[in-house]
Amino acid sequence: MVESSSFSTNLAEQNHELTFNIQTSMDTNILSGVNSEISTPPTSATTCNPITTITNLNDNVNESPMKKAKLSNSTENKQRLLEDRLGSILSCCICLDLSNLPMYQCPNGHLMCGNCFSHLLADGKLKDELTTCPNCRCEINKSNCCRNLAVEKAISELPILCEYCLNTLLRYEIKIHQSQLCTDRPTACDYNLIGCTWNGAYHNLESHLGVCQYPSKAGIELLDTLKEKKQIAEDEKKCLETVVDLLSLNQIGVSDLVLKPFRTDDFVAKLYFETSRFTCLSLQWCVRARINDNTPHPQLTMNRTLSYQLVLKSKITQTIDLKFFILRGPHGDLQAFKPIIYSFEFSPNHTETEYLKLPISSAECNKLLSSTSISLRLLMVQVERNKE
Ligand SMILES: [Zn+2]
Ligand SMILES: [Zn+2]
Ligand SMILES: [Zn+2]
Ligand SMILES: [Zn+2]
Repeated sequence: MVESSSFSTNLAEQNHELTFNIQTSMDTNILSGVNSEISTPPTSATTCNPITTITNLNDNVNESPMKKAKLSNSTENKQRLLEDRLGSILSCCICLDLSNLPMYQCPNGHLMCGNCFSHLLADGKLKDELTTCPNCRCEINKSNCCRNLAVEKAISELPILCEYCLNTLLRYEIKIHQSQLCTDRPTACDYNLIGCTWNGAYHNLESHLGVCQYPSKAGIELLDTLKEKKQIAEDEKKCLETVVDLLSLNQIGVSDLVLKPFRTDDFVAKLYFETSRFTCLSLQWCVRARINDNTPHPQLTMNRTLSYQLVLKSKITQTIDLKFFILRGPHGDLQAFKPIIYSFEFSPNHTETEYLKLPISSAECNKLLSSTSISLRLLMVQVERNKE
């Protein structure tokens, strides 16, 4: 189906949802508005009444039990086939999955999930090649591919198994079912805040609470747990306070970076990104970024990272203590991430930082790569020496 790059094979291996056939073969109720004989009792709270009504109507038909059974089997098979067929028609042509909405389509209508689409575009960037549809080889890019809302809505009406209770639900309701309604969903003890590590199905919570030792423990027994929790909370608070402190310092600069792709003129040209020069704190700077720290053939890997280097372009005579961190930019669709604050002492002989990690996920990295330029926000704070 797909001309196999390591990307697509890896995805297929990792893919747990390929088993659409299995999922739907266990399903009996969904999409069965015309099915006359559903023998399995409703397995989920979502089975709706219209089905029952139709069942009753069709029960009146005068047929021998054998014929009836045969008929019901073939209708059920057809039913399954319809769901299977729809599932394979609507699934992403790369990972064969139905779960990664949104769905995009190539100019000829081949469907790709959002993750695979941005991964393909990122691959094209890394290989310095035009990206093509894995099915029809036509060129694909952000402007000639659009989302297919009808497909997304149709997918949300298809059945999926709850991984906890194994009941069949519709895809659009699975999220709320698994997080709030499923009686088999994994649940922590109410007293986990004071150290109970019990974890079990929601329907077992009540019986656990009946025997849980924690409500009757003495304060002295809980002290260590509480100290640990306090430490974690304080570490997080400290990170936030550091940012707030830095933001209130005198010498602060904010720059919105636009990183544009370039290639080295090596024998095997490598992709890197660079901003044009910009002024911040009365000095000239630029930022460079690279993928997977320049390891060869990043297009063959599933995991992608982005690291960046801050370069001082102005001549200086004194050292400058700088703290800096990167946030998502005001443009682009990157998700917010927790910043890592770096420090560096710029001196006349040290004008470039190491390559530093940008704390974003591999999928977010692909999203950045697939866009025409990368937009990030850099905050720089000059720290006065005697105050630190
Ligand atoms: Zn996909
Ligand atoms: Zn195509
Ligand atoms: Zn469930
Ligand atoms: Zn407990």
